[in-house]
Amino acid sequence: MDKQVREKIVAITEQYSSPKTAVLSALQEVQKSGSGYLKQEDMAEVATLLDVPLASVYSSCSYYSMLNRKPVGKYHIEIDTNIPAMLAGAGDLLAHIEKRLGIRSGETTKDGLFTLSTVEDLGACGTCPVIQLGDRYFEEMTPEKADKLIESLKRGQIPESKSKVVVGGDRKVLLRRVGQPNSTFISSYLKDGGYKALEKALGMKPEDVTAEVKSSGLRGRGGAGFPAGVKWGFLPKDSGKPVYLICNADEGEPGTFKDRQIMEYDPHLLLEGMAISGYAIGAKRGFIYIRGEFAWIADILERAVEEARSSGKLGRNILGTSFDFDISVHRGAGAYVCGEETGLIESLEGKRGNPRKRPPFPAVSGLFDCPTIVNNVETLSLVPFIVEKGEAEFRKIGLPNSSGPKLFGVSGHVQRPGVYEFPLGTPLCDILEAAGGVKGNLKAIIPGGLSTAIMTAEELGDCNIPMDYDNLPKRGTSLGSGGIMVMNDTVSIPAIALRAIEFYAHESCGQCIPCREGASVIKALLSKMVAGKGTKEDLETVLSLTATIKGTTICPTGEAFSVPIEAMIKKFRREFDALIQQP
Ligand code: SF4
Repeated sequence: MDKQVREKIVAITEQYSSPKTAVLSALQEVQKSGSGYLKQEDMAEVATLLDVPLASVYSSCSYYSMLNRKPVGKYHIEIDTNIPAMLAGAGDLLAHIEKRLGIRSGETTKDGLFTLSTVEDLGACGTCPVIQLGDRYFEEMTPEKADKLIESLKRGQIPESKSKVVVGGDRKVLLRRVGQPNSTFISSYLKDGGYKALEKALGMKPEDVTAEVKSSGLRGRGGAGFPAGVKWGFLPKDSGKPVYLICNADEGEPGTFKDRQIMEYDPHLLLEGMAISGYAIGAKRGFIYIRGEFAWIADILERAVEEARSSGKLGRNILGTSFDFDISVHRGAGAYVCGEETGLIESLEGKRGNPRKRPPFPAVSGLFDCPTIVNNVETLSLVPFIVEKGEAEFRKIGLPNSSGPKLFGVSGHVQRPGVYEFPLGTPLCDILEAAGGVKGNLKAIIPGGLSTAIMTAEELGDCNIPMDYDNLPKRGTSLGSGGIMVMNDTVSIPAIALRAIEFYAHESCGQCIPCREGASVIKALLSKMVAGKGTKEDLETVLSLTATIKGTTICPTGEAFSVPIEAMIKKFRREFDALIQQP
């Protein structure tokens, strides 16, 4: 490890009270600066530098998919092949690149120049097929664009990559500033009235800010829909321990790609929301846990934090008051389960992201066993509006039990995949219309990210279904994160079910037998079925497993695959039956 890397790691550790917290960041720095993978001696050096056991460094290293333990080529081309990408032609793109490079996924060219891999969801569902190359994304890829990229890399040139944004809808609150010039800079944010809500909040009592958020009815936008103000109210009074605020920016569920629009184009909105929320709950430290693949977005956030600090919006004595609050941007390293709040906390502590048994809930015992609130990016970014305009204004948007605006990520077979802001309760047809309408004949949608139950075209009718926390459960599914995946009649549902379970089998952390073994067995059976070799008994076994797994696991992942797989089989049974081998 050279001196520069060592110094960078030491600087990272200074952000944390425990050096162990910096394990992931340290390993990523070493990997980046060296040969692109981590050797045993690299892990030993990190262990010594951070004064943590080598076993625990190795344990983290073997857990996260972005940390390589085997050599990779000079250029590592990683293609997202998950469902939205599959619907957008990632399979053809992969086949083309395999032919072009003369290698299969998982292999390296003989000259050591290229390694090709497939990866799970990259959070670019509206702009896929997407290729990840180190810290960059190349979105809306085609075989022709891939050829140009490969040619350029052969010449030793890494082309510029510009991420593409498609947004629409009402855009009154969350996406209001997306697309404006210099929207990430504090000067632009201040010009648009930014940080006024923080000023107002600091003139209120913390408990009054919490009461305002509670009365607004704001529900967590990460998927569970739990009321944010109620969650804040679970913090113990006077525990004597520091309180932490964590922003969950680890969106990794296929179909979900909305939070990145806020962080990438309006980072100060999130920072202001965090500062106000930190004030309300009595926290002095906040962390943004961002998925490692969003490296350039983490850079944007870090620069925004610096700007906010130097203009007195973060740090000591914020806006001349006695309130101190600071934020660190913490990068994950590729693990879907770290989107679950206790898995995220474990990961933030520098460990494998294995979810914890609850109780105790994080509000009582979270980060470093201290009271901790974990809220999602979208949730925290709504707080400035609530404080500035008042809870009554917030309630005017949406429905009584589903108040406020919501981001809907629309991917798959629509004309304009993208992120759309609408009041909760907006009919699905309006959202699909904003996305340019369905390409072809609608067959089904998955309404709220991969973990939600599929809905058939017959169930959807004229798509006049209100998209909110109550109306979707009445129809046997849920709003989830608002990631709507649209499928036309060219799609095979058994193939979608197989790709879904491949994802969960890959991402299971392995702690619970029903999740770990259940996902593997279902994957094997569905794979057999899609190959035309399945039997009626295989299908019944899958259904019996999905029924058994629900409610038996530490975190919601077991349910997250049981529910959608069961719904796909039950609602499209004929397609599965048609694949069964006749005796
Ligand atoms: Fe890990 Fe799956 Fe258990 Fe969650 S349900 S803790 S992902 S094994």
